[in-house]
Amino acid sequence: LEDIMMLQKIAKENNMEYIPLIQTFGHFEFVLKHEKFADLREVPQYSQSLCPSRQNSLEIIHLMIDQIMSTHPASKYLHIGADEVYALGKCNICTGRLETEFSGDLQSLFLSHVTAVSRYIKKKYPATVVIMWDDMLRNINTTKGEGCQKELQTMVRIAANQTESKTNRESVASQRSLPTKSDRITNKKRLGVAN
Ligand SMILES: [Zn+2]
Repeated sequence: LEDIMMLQKIAKENNMEYIPLIQTFGHFEFVLKHEKFADLREVPQYSQSLCPSRQNSLEIIHLMIDQIMSTHPASKYLHIGADEVYALGKCNICTGRLETEFSGDLQSLFLSHVTAVSRYIKKKYPATVVIMWDDMLRNINTTKGEGCQKELQTMVRIAANQTESKTNRESVASQRSLPTKSDRITNKKRLGVAN
């Protein structure tokens, strides 16, 4: 906590904007690697991605957001990550929701989660500007998930993510368009996930 305060102080003294970032979807290993939270993984053997359909998933995100907001009281921004969600729509609950709620559209499932996260922040911390990475939103189908997209646009600023590798980008792109079984296996191999 002292380090966090020190960083904020240094940023302020040097006229820099300090933007806290918490991952809320992919890159969630720091939580999902713990046995206690393993049941929140989208794919049991893979701790990268959070399942967006379990009640505890949002609850843990809410706790993390509250914690980060309390340690960054002067921050105007909160970055929610949401890049490179490699496992999406794979578990039983998400597969069911994809069919019943989202007409099989993975992008809509993605949008519903980031919208729920952003909604929580805007409701509890209305002055905070929410930022997320753009890579999962590239090539998004404009007709599906339109309600969520419009709502998201009012809540979130999109930041271009140029740090990801080409391989990662290809991997995400192939997941966007409902991958075939062979695509999925290729992705898993690339990510080192056993079938
Ligand atoms: Zn799931």
